[in-house]
Amino acid sequence: MDTKTYIVLFTFLFIILSLQSFWIFKDAQKRGMNKWLWGIFGFFNTPTNLLIYLIVSRTLIKKNICKNCGHGNNKGAKYCENCGEILYID
Ligand SMILES: [Zn+2]
Repeated sequence: MDTKTYIVLFTFLFIILSLQSFWIFKDAQKRGMNKWLWGIFGFFNTPTNLLIYLIVSRTLIKKNICKNCGHGNNKGAKYCENCGEILYID
């Protein structure tokens, strides 16, 4: 491959990683997880790290997600810590 192809591929990969990292950052923030740690983690590898993040956030760390604002509340919370909406414990 020539240099130009490398630059195009690298730029493409960089954009993908940035988007992934940004999405994970925002999602972790919403869920009350360590956003910086996860955001940086999401920048290293695609799509493996995205999958790891999804597994950890969706299954291992069970937060009570507010249906009104999307804030991740601690288990057992009856009201949303962010907006005060009544939470349904599942
Ligand atoms: Zn809320």
